[in-house]
Amino acid sequence: MAGKKKSAGQGKKPHKNKPTSKKYTKYTISGDKVTRAKCCPRCGPGVFLMDSQGRLYCGKCHYSEFNTKK
Ligand SMILES: [Zn+2]
Repeated sequence: MAGKKKSAGQGKKPHKNKPTSKKYTKYTISGDKVTRAKCCPRCGPGVFLMDSQGRLYCGKCHYSEFNTKK
């Protein structure tokens, strides 16, 4: 919003479907199983670690973990 207000005439905003929270992209549903991305051990469940170049990184507390699995 650029701080511009429209005067009368537009009482209702057209409803737009919000994109699904990014959070849910971390969940993969395969069959009847839900696989969850790794969570941050510091921030707890709900804060996912980002997978980058074989490392897991928390964008919240900057915790990073090496992914030793190959
Ligand atoms: Zn964290």
